[in-house]
Amino acid sequence: NETATKCAGCGVAIQTESPEKLGYTPPAALTKETVLCQRCFRIKNYNEISSVTPNQDDFLKILGGIGEKRALVVHIVDLFDFEGSLIAGLHRFIGQNPVILVVNKIDLLPKAINVNRILNWVQKQAKENGIRTSEVVLCSAKKNIGFDRVIEAISSYRGDRDVYVVGATNVGKSTLINRIIREYSDLEAELTTSPFPGTTLDLVQIPLDDGRYMIDTPGIVYSHRLTEIIDKQDLKTVLPDKPIKPSVFQLNEKQTLFFGAFARFDFVQGQRQSFTCYVSNAVPIHRTKLDNADDLYAAHKGEMLSPPTADRIGDLPPLVKHAYRIPKGSSSEVLISGLGWIAVNSDAGAQIVIHAPKGVKVAVRSSLI
Ligand code: GDP
Repeated sequence: NETATKCAGCGVAIQTESPEKLGYTPPAALTKETVLCQRCFRIKNYNEISSVTPNQDDFLKILGGIGEKRALVVHIVDLFDFEGSLIAGLHRFIGQNPVILVVNKIDLLPKAINVNRILNWVQKQAKENGIRTSEVVLCSAKKNIGFDRVIEAISSYRGDRDVYVVGATNVGKSTLINRIIREYSDLEAELTTSPFPGTTLDLVQIPLDDGRYMIDTPGIVYSHRLTEIIDKQDLKTVLPDKPIKPSVFQLNEKQTLFFGAFARFDFVQGQRQSFTCYVSNAVPIHRTKLDNADDLYAAHKGEMLSPPTADRIGDLPPLVKHAYRIPKGSSSEVLISGLGWIAVNSDAGAQIVIHAPKGVKVAVRSSLI
């Protein structure tokens, strides 16, 4: 089809191949008189926003555009992948505008967790990553926890500013915004889209009841997060949907844990000790001897070691090593961005190696839990 069909709503070129990309429309919808992309269709018919993924350039232009306005920025991050989902260098783009950091998915942590401890950890972590916040709010968009505080924080910092909601993909931005739309906006007024200068994108504007707007920006894709480089089907396994039951392993040195075929943890050297894995309980953990681990992976990835299964394992980048020495007496966690983390409460210290798909961020941090 040479003369590309355009969406009657936002003008984007219609395509029927990739549901996750801009301009997608199911082929059957092409026969309709007015063709809308799926995103505009949902906005129009359900007043509901779904996430789109722009290219990095457009995203940065949008962030830069916010810097030229009087805005309140609501930055949503995923507690399950905190470092991976933070927008690094946010302030370079948005200038002096205030930021509310909304930390979503707190429902995933074990019930007994101390909220103040998490709050302190988030504040410290945000600071270390160069994010200045007017306020930090913990919430669960899915389980409706802390939602009122999100709204309170927005009203107390907003003044006469428009509210821009920014976040990486899969942090729960749409879930949260749809909740806000349902509870707080004037539903009589329709959601509108307006083109954003200098980009191929239009932003969704949600009218609030005082005549101002909340603006949903597209989710940024960070390829350093495992969740962004795997198949949709595997994403369901990797994204936990209920509180994580941590798996505790007592390991001797020279033992290895495989997380499906996605990643591997080697306890290379140290006294026998326990390691606690905070990974979706749908991802099977397989324990073996370090000496066997290379052969086991080569022979059984995609089968005994899965997901990903054999048909998709070829799409996973090869695993690369990240070596760490966890000092004596520290309590640390090793994050594998998008997959979860492994807690090392080490009285005796430990030498460990993480094998993660090439490009996926791996980092040691002080303990969240
Ligand atoms: P977006 O890409 O940021 O717009 O994210 P979505 O709203 O589409 O959510 C991404 C995934 O995270 C979906 O599988 C949601 O069900 C899930 N999700 C969203 N909010 C929460 C939450 O508060 N807790 C949990 N456990 N999952 C959530």
